[in-house]
Amino acid sequence: METNSHYSPENIGLSSSPRSSRKAKPEGTIVNIEGVMVGGSEVIIIAGPCAVESREQLFETARSVKNGGAKILRGGAFKPRSSPYNFQGLGEEGLKLLGQIRKETGLPVVTEVMDTRQVELVVSYADMIQIGSRNMHNYPLLKEAGKCHKPVLLKRGMMATIDEFLLAAEYILNQGNEQVILCERGIRTFETSTRNTLDLSAVPMLKRLSHLPVIVDPSHGTGLRWMVPAMAKAAVASGADGLIMEVHYKPEEAICEGHQSLDIDDFMKLMTDLKKIAEAVDREILLPDSSRL
Ligand code: PEP
Ligand code: MN
Repeated sequence: METNSHYSPENIGLSSSPRSSRKAKPEGTIVNIEGVMVGGSEVIIIAGPCAVESREQLFETARSVKNGGAKILRGGAFKPRSSPYNFQGLGEEGLKLLGQIRKETGLPVVTEVMDTRQVELVVSYADMIQIGSRNMHNYPLLKEAGKCHKPVLLKRGMMATIDEFLLAAEYILNQGNEQVILCERGIRTFETSTRNTLDLSAVPMLKRLSHLPVIVDPSHGTGLRWMVPAMAKAAVASGADGLIMEVHYKPEEAICEGHQSLDIDDFMKLMTDLKKIAEAVDREILLPDSSRL
């Protein structure tokens, strides 16, 4: 009979992932991104466009998500697109725009690095670097991220088990970088009605096995704008330390992933709902006074 060695959660992540194991740090890790603490009592919302497309698109979206209560801005300059014929990102030009709006809004930025050769450049602009789902198994890149002195947002590989995910984090920690945030972003299953199957059971599992903060990406997790609010709320209820969501000032005109991007009104409404969910699970979301309540 086939045995599932992963059935017992106590077997995972403990002996094979000593540095990320909860045992190594029972009190939990708080990752500090320019003063924004992920892993504490506040549920941190990261929001922004999938890709930096233009100055206007980035700046308008960034100002709005800040008003809505986002604490960190996302936006890809180097994009891992499934098709080589699709927009690949603005590259360094996109990083420069992120640097400008970071200065204006004061929001720290997270942006993806896809290649070991880009780490130095991306690190010079980003407050936190993102390693995407497609690169979770890219061990040279994980090691390079482990050598840099910026927090790392590590997304779960779309085909990765919890064990493999923790081992990927282990590669970063093992190089001396302890500022790692785990991100559940949906996995591939037989289901085709959603882009991915958002595995929210990964949240309590990862929190149990590891001391690292865990956030959820309901945008890639569902691929459906209308479903994002429901899964965002469920993620906060499940104990996530934060969310990363795609928001676009004009999703219908987006070059990249408009179908799963919230518009500004959706985002504002969701933030007030999330605040209530956070309070119900003894966490908090602090909204700016100026946001539309
Ligand atoms: C993204 O955040 O835009 C992205 C490409 O995410 P993932 O690596 O989870 O697909
Ligand atoms: Mn995207």
